[in-house]
Amino acid sequence: MKFATKAIHAGQEPDPTTGAVMTPIYQTSTYWQRSPGEHKGFEYSRGTNPTRKALEACLAALENARYGLAFSSGMAATDAVMKLLRAGDEVITGNDLYGGSFRMFSKVFAHYGIKFHFIDLSKPENISQYINEKTRLIWIETPTNPTMQIVDIRGVAAIAKAKNILLTVDNTFASPYLQNPIDLGADIVMHSATKYLGGHSDVVMGALMLNDEELYKQLWFIYNACGATPGPMDSFLVLRGIKTLHLRMKAHCENGREIAAFLKAHPKVGKVYWPGFEDHPNYEIAKKQMRDFGGMISFTLKDADLRGTFELASRFNVFTLAESLGGVESLINHPVTMTHASIPKEAREAVGVVDNLLRLSVGVEDIEDLLADLSQALG
Ligand SMILES: *Cc1c(COP(=O)(O)O)cnc(C)c1O
Repeated sequence: MKFATKAIHAGQEPDPTTGAVMTPIYQTSTYWQRSPGEHKGFEYSRGTNPTRKALEACLAALENARYGLAFSSGMAATDAVMKLLRAGDEVITGNDLYGGSFRMFSKVFAHYGIKFHFIDLSKPENISQYINEKTRLIWIETPTNPTMQIVDIRGVAAIAKAKNILLTVDNTFASPYLQNPIDLGADIVMHSATKYLGGHSDVVMGALMLNDEELYKQLWFIYNACGATPGPMDSFLVLRGIKTLHLRMKAHCENGREIAAFLKAHPKVGKVYWPGFEDHPNYEIAKKQMRDFGGMISFTLKDADLRGTFELASRFNVFTLAESLGGVESLINHPVTMTHASIPKEAREAVGVVDNLLRLSVGVEDIEDLLADLSQALG
């Protein structure tokens, strides 16, 4: 099946008892057993629930994976992957990570004896010098947040495979519509389904997609044992959101392209970070591994200090000043004080997360209204 058909149908059959076309919200914690152990595959909703099961099959299909697992947040999905590790293991990851991932790695799992190397991943060959016999996992994010660096997934996968190291890709920014890391050699794809998959800023959820059966069994064990699984209402909302993923992504990409060009030409704007520019340092790789360039754009203001940046960020009428991304509505975010506040100043400034940086999640409103709003705010 092609992407749009999978987005609408994968994992979903008319309900066997009523014929309901939409997967029902199975709001139940437990299931009847005819005699102990004799049941229809559902025992207790922490482990399995029919609404969540339909969603997980759909999530797997979107990433061309055999297995999907839904978690109660993107961070819960990340947490489950980290729990595959043991004290003494080492992880190689990027120096431009989602703030919450950096916080979890450095402030939670580092205390359990896991060592993290936060490095520049813009060239896969940078990785080799950090690999030793303790390296168990490489964790990458591409495009990165908020400076839209592109990591060569195929290149990193080749290194990981040669050394028998697990590779996980946080595919939140691209969404499965733009990029499928498993096809490029990754072992696990992670999503914050809160963003493009849900798409309507009304639910928090995470997901893992993968092919290997043994790894799936280990992750399912952690999922059920630790219990950060989402309820049926949230599962339904994401299942419904995904039905328009391809339509929304097309519109995000179109609007993103126009806004990136507008910002680049604006006299009050300094740097613009968007992987679709031909002068982006990893444009060729972006073009190869992504189907389009998305609606996430960051930019700096020329001659603006923190106060000037705050003032500008508060002047929007259509863009909403808020954390998060990937919804139908356009958002503007100040990474230093909002999404990336948990990253030490030196570490963030080294990768360009400076006081006068703003990040846009370009929504699917009419482009003329979005451009007019940017125009009036920039002045
Ligand atoms: C939001 C986000 C996460 C965390 O997901 P939650 O659903 O908020 O827990 C992880 N990675 C990226 C790139 C994100 O944008």
